[in-house]
Amino acid sequence: MPYDFDLFVIGGGSGGVRAARTAAATGAKVALAEESRMGGTCVIRGCVPKKLMVFASEFREQSELAREYGWDAKLGAFDWAGFRTRLHGELDRLEGVYRRLLNGSNVKIFDSRAKLADSHTIRLSDGTTATAETILIATGGRPMRPDMPNAHLGVVSDDIFNLDSLPKSILIVGGGYIACEFACILNGLGVEVTQYYRGAQILRGFDEEARGLVAEMMRERGIDLHLGTNIVEMTAEATRLSEGGMTMPVEELGIDREDKQAGAPGETVWVKATNGTERVFDYVFFATGRAPNSHGLGLEDLGVGINRRGAIEVDAYSRTSVENIYAIGDVTDRIQLTPVAIREGMAFTETVYKNNPTAVDHALVPSAVFTQPELGTVGMTEEQAREQEPIEVYCTSFRPMKTAFAERPDRVLMKLIVSKATRKVLGCHIVAPDAGELIQMVGIAVKAGLTKEDFDRTVAVHPTMSEELVTMHSPVRTA
Ligand code: NDP
Repeated sequence: MPYDFDLFVIGGGSGGVRAARTAAATGAKVALAEESRMGGTCVIRGCVPKKLMVFASEFREQSELAREYGWDAKLGAFDWAGFRTRLHGELDRLEGVYRRLLNGSNVKIFDSRAKLADSHTIRLSDGTTATAETILIATGGRPMRPDMPNAHLGVVSDDIFNLDSLPKSILIVGGGYIACEFACILNGLGVEVTQYYRGAQILRGFDEEARGLVAEMMRERGIDLHLGTNIVEMTAEATRLSEGGMTMPVEELGIDREDKQAGAPGETVWVKATNGTERVFDYVFFATGRAPNSHGLGLEDLGVGINRRGAIEVDAYSRTSVENIYAIGDVTDRIQLTPVAIREGMAFTETVYKNNPTAVDHALVPSAVFTQPELGTVGMTEEQAREQEPIEVYCTSFRPMKTAFAERPDRVLMKLIVSKATRKVLGCHIVAPDAGELIQMVGIAVKAGLTKEDFDRTVAVHPTMSEELVTMHSPVRTA
């Protein structure tokens, strides 16, 4: 073989690891370089620790509910340090699992940063050089701070899992998945949460009614959500605890602004907002989107196409403009979801190592926002569908049995978008506890192209919230 390896994967996240393992299983000689921890964003600083924090944050409300159901329940204080230790123990375990899977598949691991010297040569930060016939870039993305003075004072999602202590107050900036999920998590853990979103409604791109209900429920739970609001100015403050918690500009306390680290004990951030208010928060958390990790890999010099947002341009088979270089996952910015990156990795192996060219199917990908309540969605929103063709909208919103019993104002929403012409269900949107679990199942039906009549032929499971999905007989409107 003229090269050291058949395949060299750069990036040990969900997509890269899956591609490496499946390629190695075909007999290919595979290496993988990861500069940070094996598992990538999903396992180490994304989906997994986030979901564990979601679970942790739900107990307060559950214990309040338990009292309404007759339990003499009283929840004590939340031990962040204890939880964090356990959380990181779990992440260490999962990282070990990923390493063992790679070793067990005979994938050679390089714990180094990799850079391409030419289209077949990889230079590693430990000084090693390796060559490979095919190169797969799976370097993921990273959280972005807005381009504004003092943005370094804000934390990003990567930082949240490592906080020394939970703040008393936090300002979350953004209205996407991460902003809304962490607003709910931190609120559930007892932090005073303020959220600024620059647009008219959070969760842009999701169904209007669904996002409206999520916003209402978030406010109902105590999140101070401000729409059409952004930061215009932010500076470091230091709190003189000895003077009754008064805050003042850090210079007056003799601290260099550049040295100021947001969230350090006794230090806070002063924020002026577009709505004119001036407030001080323990932390400012920027959940303002993620950027692809495409720079510093030597790709530009090789002529690999990178778009204005920094995403590597690929064809339907994840091939870049350089014939033997492929890219998958968030670095290509197609759909930034772990299961999509995994699919892209498997399609890559089919295409390159199984002589079975496989384009990735990005249509009708179900997803969930783990807010409280959750938002599960698959297919078109009402707004998208009505632009495409005549539709019927089936929708119901009600107080679910579990919390209505406790006289809670919680509401859930079940919504189906149906094509008038084909009767196919074009989209489903659920706002409810466990909507993520529900939408996985509905996703099968929508992906299979089932019609509203197929839904109606299915007998309800009673008493459940989701039985409404098969019992909505009349459209609420047509469009
Ligand atoms: P999103 O793109 O979802 O949201 C970014 C938010 O930040 C938007 O509300 C955007 O506003 C706002 N924003 C961007 N720039 C600025 C700025 N300069 N000032 C103020 N606000 C700004 O990104 P996330 O970081 O939340 O998530 C990244 C991706 O990760 C998601 O798209 C999703 O694919 C994935 N993810 C999936 C999860 C899941 O499956 N549950 C969980 C977490 C992440 P505007 O709408 O106006 O552009």
